[in-house]
Amino acid sequence: GIKRFAEKTPKSLEFYKEAIKVMPGGTTANIKFFAPYPIIMEKGKGSRLYDLDGNEYIDYLLSYGALILGHGHPRVLQAVQEQLIDDGTYLFGTPHRLEVEMGRKIQQLYPSIELLRYTNSGTEATLLAIRLACAYTGKNKIAKFEGHYHGGYDQVLVSVNPSLEEAGNPHQPKSVAESKGMDHYHEEHTIILPFNDLDAASDILRKWKDELAAIIVEPIQGGFIPAERSFMEGLRKLTEELDILLIFDEVKTCFRLGMGGAQEYYNIKPDLTALGKAVGGGYPIGITGGRKNVMEVSLPKAASDVFDNSQSKNSKARDVLFHSGTYNGHPSILAAGIETIAVLEEEISRINETVEKLKTGISKLFSQRGMAVQTLGLGSIFNLIFTEKDQILNYRDLQSADFELRRELDFQLINEGIYTKPLNRYSISSAHGQAEIDQTLDAFEKVIRKL
Ligand code: PMP
Repeated sequence: GIKRFAEKTPKSLEFYKEAIKVMPGGTTANIKFFAPYPIIMEKGKGSRLYDLDGNEYIDYLLSYGALILGHGHPRVLQAVQEQLIDDGTYLFGTPHRLEVEMGRKIQQLYPSIELLRYTNSGTEATLLAIRLACAYTGKNKIAKFEGHYHGGYDQVLVSVNPSLEEAGNPHQPKSVAESKGMDHYHEEHTIILPFNDLDAASDILRKWKDELAAIIVEPIQGGFIPAERSFMEGLRKLTEELDILLIFDEVKTCFRLGMGGAQEYYNIKPDLTALGKAVGGGYPIGITGGRKNVMEVSLPKAASDVFDNSQSKNSKARDVLFHSGTYNGHPSILAAGIETIAVLEEEISRINETVEKLKTGISKLFSQRGMAVQTLGLGSIFNLIFTEKDQILNYRDLQSADFELRRELDFQLINEGIYTKPLNRYSISSAHGQAEIDQTLDAFEKVIRKL
């Protein structure tokens, strides 16, 4: 696969050699790199991406799930253009109409969200949720699940992808830092839980309950390993009993299971929710929302004390929950978000039907070849896992998968014009229809023979 990849993408390699003179690794996020070099894309349209060499791909990366309407949806582009022209500004720097319009829509779709704040990314959304939980409860530890990602900051960047030697006992996983330069304070202050293992999680939570402000969870790990229903229900009960807030990180799941995300699917009301990705239809946004009494910890009652030097001697800055951002509630992005929701309300069932057809088709092709593969996921994201295991329920189970085979498959597929970053998930957009499924299944059929 790699040899042909190199033959098809010489301009990407040439450009990559220039890019590394500008950015470490030639990319501006480590995750966007893959060996031998990432493909440099130049244009996107609907379901398609086009690279520097003029190769056309059906895009299943969809910017890690954000592009739920595909590339350049005309209604979203028009909404952004109209906002820019009608309002005549990129930014107000004040409260404005679209913040409330978008917010009302989110409150309708996510009834657990009584009040909300906007951020610029999913990372900032989970960060704010955690800070709110700590402020509200007066406690300073949080718990997260092994293998779950919530953003790139110290408090949650532990045990996302730990080595099994470091991670220790599966029922009592250790907190392992994921990055150089991290404050090891957080290895102590972030408690790690095993996903889909209620008994073990319960033991750990009971031990730490007096210090735990919140548990943050991806209801569907990595967008493709669903929580078992009984596990989710148990977690909700337990957190209520132990006075720990439950934060749903729905950055990946929002609008991908259904309009109401995982909380609608599981019929569970978290205390706080973080949204991102699809909610902006490809524009940078995050939303933190939840229970009114928790969100109101961020009321700006004494905000001026923080900045007004003349009062600084008397002020107690720590009475205020700090939340800020020059670009929070950016009008062009909210215009895109509002229109994305409007289009999705018409399109979401069709997107979810398309993905089911694709998953069924792929499974059939592999089983005809006698190969064990799982198309794991719910809604419009799934992953292809080569494993003999019956059920993948968490990070430890996932380690049994054959990643080398998957990598080979991915390079072969890229060579046939089917794109996701090697080893990544598949996301589907409203721009993916029968033509895309047919072309994708033809490509799978061709490459499976070579595996
Ligand atoms: N939470 C989850 C579940 C995510 O998948 C991601 C992004 N992959 C984030 C948080 C962080 O979002 P962002 O990249 O927008 O900061």
